[in-house]
Amino acid sequence: MAEKNVFDVAIIGLGPSGATFARLLDPNLKVLALDKKDDTENSFRKPCGGLLAHDAQKCFARFGLTLPLEVLVNPQIFAVRTIDLETGYERYYQRFYINMDRHKFDLWLKSLIPVHAEVRNGVTALDFEKRDDCYAITVRDKEKRETYYARYLVGADGANSAVRQRLFPDHKIRSYLAIQQWFPDTHKSPMYSCIFDRNLTDCYSWGVSKDDSFILGGAFPNKGARERFRMLKTKLAGVGFKLENPIKTETCLVLSPASSREFCLGGDRCFLLGEAAGFISPSSLEGMSYAFESAASLAGLFNRKSEVTLKDYRRATRGLRAKLMLKLLKKPFIMGHFLRKLIMRSGISSLKVAAQGCESSETAPPK
Ligand SMILES: Cc1cc2nc3c(=O)[nH]c(=O)nc-3n(C[C@H](O)[C@H](O)[C@H](O)COP(=O)(O)OP(=O)(O)OC[C@H]3O[C@@H](n4cnc5c(N)ncnc54)[C@H](O)[C@@H]3O)c2cc1C
Repeated sequence: MAEKNVFDVAIIGLGPSGATFARLLDPNLKVLALDKKDDTENSFRKPCGGLLAHDAQKCFARFGLTLPLEVLVNPQIFAVRTIDLETGYERYYQRFYINMDRHKFDLWLKSLIPVHAEVRNGVTALDFEKRDDCYAITVRDKEKRETYYARYLVGADGANSAVRQRLFPDHKIRSYLAIQQWFPDTHKSPMYSCIFDRNLTDCYSWGVSKDDSFILGGAFPNKGARERFRMLKTKLAGVGFKLENPIKTETCLVLSPASSREFCLGGDRCFLLGEAAGFISPSSLEGMSYAFESAASLAGLFNRKSEVTLKDYRRATRGLRAKLMLKLLKKPFIMGHFLRKLIMRSGISSLKVAAQGCESSETAPPK
């Protein structure tokens, strides 16, 4: 094996988790960082609501990072319009998300990776094989196939992680099919909306204005997902949503761990970060804060120790996993029909929103 192709750590995927991990690693480590997306027009783009939640903002505060204007979109929205399509209840709740262009955000995170890491963009990792004391990683770089070797392999390649599927094929994490469609935004006022309807999904759907576009998305059980999305659009058109002339449609897997056993941290000198490990909130599908936190935990271990074990990583992510389990307990209050109906009917924590901000009344009567 050629010396130039041998690394201490190989990172597969440079979304929020992989890019953060690469950024925080000690410069003495020889790091290879591979990512299938790049800055070209046809690049892979992660389908996402692009909302930076409070916990993710807190990670940025801890990292001492500030957000550049170029990743923000217009406008910033302070209330979420929550709609229960079954009961007809509609409420507004205060939220502190930052509304961003997700692709620009990802590219900016990658730009922060220091020059001592070897970053390869537009490269897809295809296969991983443990050989003696290192991993052989086969990649496709345009038309070429190449093999790299690394002592440690880090899978930061998202929900559909090839690393997890190849090396831990028996590990299953509950998933939904996320479908997002982009429309020209012709609503009277920009909005962020959360939509519930247990006839369509036991998860939820969302709508968010971004510059001149409106994104409607939802996480659906795999079976009949496209039909469910079509029905969602019909129902929303009935309550005033403007969903004509779609510009583009995106689909991808989104994980929603159903128990602590579903987290997949890795093993045998391979570690999984962010959503590849199942680190995503089952109650909101917020995943960026867990991507940042898991990346910082693992980087801290690599920077302190010459040998990192699964036991170390398990200990370092104990708090993060406990937090996710609390989110699982919260899920019935948000996604369970009965409790949500009670909460929305009571109006607890909701806001009265001035008429120009909305196109329907604060609380529609139950049908
Ligand atoms: C529709 C949708 C909306 C969401 N909205 C939000 C939101 O508003 N806010 C929020 O906090 N979370 C949201 N999430 C969750 C969030 O997007 C993820 O949890 C988060 O992006 C996980 O970060 P990550 O770095 O672990 O993985 P990812 O962001 O998925 O990044 C993995 C990267 O790996 C690369 N990659 C994948 N496979 C390979 C390969 N074989 N070879 C090389 N590179 C590879 C890709 O380029 C990809 O960018 C949403 C998820 C979905 C599906």
